[in-house]
Amino acid sequence: MEKYDYIICGAGLAGLSLAYRLCDSAFSDKRILLIEKEEKTKNDRTFCHWSTTRGPYEDIVSKQWSQLQFKSLSVDKIFDIHPYQYKMIRGDDFYAFNLKKIKESAHISIVKEQIVDIQEGEPCVVRTDKNSYAGNHIFKTYPKSGIDFSKAQYVSQHFMGWVIRTQEDSFSENQATFMDFNIPQKGETRFMYVLPTDKKTALVELAIFSNAILSRREYETILKNYVEENLSILNYSIEEKEQGIIPMTSYDFGKHDTKHISHIGTASGAVKPSSGYAFSRVQEQTDLIADLIKQGRSLNKSQSLFKSKYKRYDRTFLNAILTNKTNGEQVFSLMFSKLSPQLIFKFLDEKTSLTEELKLFTAPPTLPFLRAFIAEI
Ligand SMILES: Cc1cc2nc3c(=O)[nH]c(=O)nc-3n(C[C@H](O)[C@H](O)[C@H](O)COP(=O)(O)OP(=O)(O)OC[C@H]3O[C@@H](n4cnc5c(N)ncnc54)[C@H](O)[C@@H]3O)c2cc1C
Repeated sequence: MEKYDYIICGAGLAGLSLAYRLCDSAFSDKRILLIEKEEKTKNDRTFCHWSTTRGPYEDIVSKQWSQLQFKSLSVDKIFDIHPYQYKMIRGDDFYAFNLKKIKESAHISIVKEQIVDIQEGEPCVVRTDKNSYAGNHIFKTYPKSGIDFSKAQYVSQHFMGWVIRTQEDSFSENQATFMDFNIPQKGETRFMYVLPTDKKTALVELAIFSNAILSRREYETILKNYVEENLSILNYSIEEKEQGIIPMTSYDFGKHDTKHISHIGTASGAVKPSSGYAFSRVQEQTDLIADLIKQGRSLNKSQSLFKSKYKRYDRTFLNAILTNKTNGEQVFSLMFSKLSPQLIFKFLDEKTSLTEELKLFTAPPTLPFLRAFIAEI
């Protein structure tokens, strides 16, 4: 059995972000293996995130916007988000960029195999459909199947997006629509976003918070109606499509970690429960792990990133939405009418001070949130 210091199971966002950091020459005395079952060449998702700084993936940011629009029945505002930029990275660019770097690093190997079992031990053993590998520490980036979410707050964020190309100039390319709630809500939280990459091309995406997943036809009908009726675009072609379901949940993923097996990415709760964003949290998480390895410290601290105070806020939000005390349109409309996007981003990044949080708590519908907060306590 080949032996490694670290085995990364899964080469999606979290696995590749960690491997990218471990390509650094500071880790050249380590043997690292990355195991992934798929080719990772398709543009199967688009990673958007806000940031005030340049990150390791700046060279593959395909488009960024300094102006964002928020729209609902009661609010229609365009915000200048300086010093933030809202950035877009295509999935296929992200995979290619990382895989190139990994292939250039002699101390990291990658194999295309399907993992069938991971056993804790000294060393741990990872069995795939073709081989078995021994590793001192394992980073697992996909959740175990059949997790019982029934004791946690849980709602799926499910979405479908089209990259459309129009015949005439249809978009203002320096401005993206962050959220547009002007579609039938059907008793759920439903919004669209529009991310133009030039005057004729944009990613138009539908996102829904609910546990009732739609059929492909239903998503397509909503997208088509939005493009034709809300955006008034009739002549267009669909160039690319993406679709997905991600968990928004208060579930304690940390309990699956063992002494030598750490979960990262979605499997660790890195998808922010109140927003569904994961990209920036995964970058922070993999920075932290690389630092812990450099310092020779315990690796079971990757959960410490998600602070309990914000977990409580997220649970309150999920409770308020899931028990219909309020709905996403009302919450986000009030937040974007009363607060700056800079403060909202800082809060979602879990970096606000108590004074800023007090300001934030006056924005959402007070009574439903108070009741949800008490219910969560
Ligand atoms: C369509 C879509 C759009 C999104 N857009 C955004 C966005 O704009 N901004 C944002 O912040 N987040 C976004 N997300 C959420 C989140 O960033 C992504 O889901 C992200 O890919 C999660 O990273 P991950 O590493 O946890 O999981 P993944 O990227 O799914 O990686 C897990 C990897 O493990 C592999 N794997 C699974 N099982 C095995 C096995 N048995 N053996 C070997 N390999 C295995 C999979 O093939 C996969 O490559 C989006 C998600 C989707 C689906």
